[in-house]
Amino acid sequence: MDGHPRVEVCTETEEYRSRVSTGLHKHHPLPTIYVRLDRQFTSRAETNLIRFATKVVNRWYCRKTMLIGDAAHVFPPFGGQGIATGIRDAQALSWRLAMMSNLQVSPSVREHILTGWSQERRHAWEAATLSTKLNGSIVNQRSWLGGFFYRLYMRIIWSLPGGAWSRTKKAFKDKLVYNSQTCPDGFFLESQGGGRKVAQVWVRRIGEEPRLSDTVFLRHLSHLSILVLVRSPQDIDSTSIAEAIRASGVPSTILSTEDITYLDVSGGRLQAQQETEKRVYHACPTSELMVEGITTLRGYHEDAIQNRLQKGVKYVLLRPDFFIHSVAMELPGLQRNLETVREYFEERI
Ligand SMILES: Cc1cc2nc3c(=O)[nH]c(=O)nc-3n(C[C@H](O)[C@H](O)[C@H](O)COP(=O)(O)OP(=O)(O)OC[C@H]3O[C@@H](n4cnc5c(N)ncnc54)[C@H](O)[C@@H]3O)c2cc1C
Repeated sequence: MDGHPRVEVCTETEEYRSRVSTGLHKHHPLPTIYVRLDRQFTSRAETNLIRFATKVVNRWYCRKTMLIGDAAHVFPPFGGQGIATGIRDAQALSWRLAMMSNLQVSPSVREHILTGWSQERRHAWEAATLSTKLNGSIVNQRSWLGGFFYRLYMRIIWSLPGGAWSRTKKAFKDKLVYNSQTCPDGFFLESQGGGRKVAQVWVRRIGEEPRLSDTVFLRHLSHLSILVLVRSPQDIDSTSIAEAIRASGVPSTILSTEDITYLDVSGGRLQAQQETEKRVYHACPTSELMVEGITTLRGYHEDAIQNRLQKGVKYVLLRPDFFIHSVAMELPGLQRNLETVREYFEERI
């Protein structure tokens, strides 16, 4: 093995076990990655052992202090996860803080909302850690031969016709999906299709430039939004949706008719018949974007939003971080989902 890197990836170590038994690491059940280098790495590598750890806090907030980014977790350098995870912590916290401030929630509701936030972020940390460990084991192949064959395999896959396309397409799949087991206090309804992210596509309204859908759906940091998948002109019905919002009791400070976007999924450009003040968009195919000088990534598809949803879904209730709270096929279902939103922000006994 001389001259080639070796790796030991451990989930438990003697030191870790002793720390747990003495209570020192009681709240840090950290899987630890040990990377052993057989070649001389630096003159300071006296033992030839360099330790990488992934760590997470046991408590993400206390009163008015919340931990985000590296203050809450650290990763080994194999995944490039540090910056994105930190930004997502902040994004997921910011709209909750804005909503709590607008609604003047009680301390018990505040506790519940922040607990939900920390459970979701902890779940995201677990997912990022898994991919980091996987990358670590790939880039630090135990044997020179293993590394050689892995790189050869990847080169072949990427050079095959359709290989690059299928690998890039994978990147468009949502990898982070919250569930009610790891996030029992999370702000989503798993049973109603919530907990995953809505896809992002280019959309356009008659007479306007194409825009990325995230910038269209989100109009207010502290508001939820409703995305309506339009298959017939009758689906563009702000009055009935307004009535469902009113009947559910969700405060207008977090959701109003201003937060509704219609996405024409009929393929027939229904929006052309609509008044321009209505927010009716269609998703732009690559050919339409090319005319505008916009190049899409491989794997882009204008139907990505509906393709990620169950067939027949009409109403998508979105959080400001583009995670789906819940979906519904009909208005009564939307109203029921909205009622659970109201309950989430109500006093807890
Ligand atoms: C060598 C290296 C390479 C990396 N490469 C990547 C990569 O390729 N991709 C990736 O995603 N991540 C990478 N990371 C991780 C990434 O840099 C961090 O995850 C990210 O910077 C964390 O951001 P943060 O804002 O949470 O913390 P920091 O960037 O550490 O910011 C904290 C700030 O708080 C300041 N501060 C600390 N204490 C106090 C105090 N008491 N009062 C006032 N200010 C204080 C610090 O000076 C610092 O400016 C790398 C890290 C290192 C070290």
